Amino acid sequence: MACPLCHRPTAWEGNPWRPFCSERCQLTDLGTWAAEQYRVPGPNLLMELPTEPTQDADSDAGERSND
Ligand SMILES: [Zn+2]
Repeated sequence: MACPLCHRPTAWEGNPWRPFCSERCQLTDLGTWAAEQYRVPGPNLLMELPTEPTQDADSDAGERSND
């Protein structure tokens, strides 16, 4: 039996936190579950980086074809 959270070998017999390996993992899992329940559905707040205008400085330094 492995802890579903940290995947470490877990003692089943006499383990008050089974199937987790420890109280820490159990509480963490419960906390994760609670967080899932309270998750507000909505658009993901993706970090949209402002698109900087690409200044093509090399365009003026090109060779003159029409001289
Ligand atoms: Zn664990």
